[in-house]
Amino acid sequence: MLAGAGCVGVGGPVPGAPEHHRERVFVNQNPAFERPGFWATQRFRLNRVWHSLTDGRAPVEFPRVANDGRALRETAAGPTLTWIGHSTFLIQLAGLNILTDPQFSERASPLSFAGPRRLSAPGVAFEDLPPIHLVVLSHDHYDHLDRASVVRLAEQHRPLFLVPLGLKAWFTSVGITERVEELDWWQSRTVGGVTVTCTPVQHWSARTAFDTNERLWAGWALAGRERRLFFAGDTGFWEPGFRAIGARLGPFDLALVAIGAYEPSEIMRMTHTTPDEALALFAAVGARTFVAMHWGTFDLADEPLDEPPRLLRAAATRLGFDPGRLWILRHGETRGW
Ligand code: ZN
Ligand code: ZN
Repeated sequence: MLAGAGCVGVGGPVPGAPEHHRERVFVNQNPAFERPGFWATQRFRLNRVWHSLTDGRAPVEFPRVANDGRALRETAAGPTLTWIGHSTFLIQLAGLNILTDPQFSERASPLSFAGPRRLSAPGVAFEDLPPIHLVVLSHDHYDHLDRASVVRLAEQHRPLFLVPLGLKAWFTSVGITERVEELDWWQSRTVGGVTVTCTPVQHWSARTAFDTNERLWAGWALAGRERRLFFAGDTGFWEPGFRAIGARLGPFDLALVAIGAYEPSEIMRMTHTTPDEALALFAAVGARTFVAMHWGTFDLADEPLDEPPRLLRAAATRLGFDPGRLWILRHGETRGW
């Protein structure tokens, strides 16, 4: 889900709590943050419903690499990174198999018959995954938190789920009552040899019309002894916020940043990055290599489906980036880092 609901009471500050905690909901740090207008939101939603019911646009073939998971199951040491699709990555670091925002379903939706349909099969099939030790979740939107995927993971892999504040109750509601830990922004857990830190980003949350911003949204920094990675989740670009993450937790070897879902701008500009902004985020946070995500998997927004990587390459060329520092992985592709 991408466009915020209408009126939600924010409530006053909570005495003694961090600034992003309000009486009823969480809020962003950026003082210039504003919600999209009501009518623009309704227009966008109707347009999206129409797309999902009519299958909207001509299918696009995205590049894939056959990956039966065998190499991933045989070597756990890493570090490797595999793009499964959208914001779902398999990260192998310090002997751990880690998934980000696991989404293996046919639709990113609460409904089986409507909502954004998957355009590219998962780059690694669920049944081919190596044993998953840890899952980090950025927020509760359906393209990131998929009930069927997390329930199946809990049943078959029993990973530790690290989630932003407010999500534990949702896990309990779907029957996952063990191995779920909630973190606030800037809190860390050490799992095996990896220190995992929940970071602020600029986004929002909702799974229904009635729970907007009741659960926190976040990015995640993963630090092994020799390698560090930043997973930005879904976020708008606010330079001071990302500079702070780089200063406290960087520099990073990899930054995984969303490049899709930026049109229409009046809806998306505060909570998603254009390819240009994604590169600015990458520079602000301080990383060696940029990894593109959040494109080519679900039809979520109004830009052409194959536009984000084209704009990203063009922006990188314009800015004089070393092409070797820009990873636009194919579905299923694994790279060492
Ligand atoms: Zn989102
Ligand atoms: Zn998203």
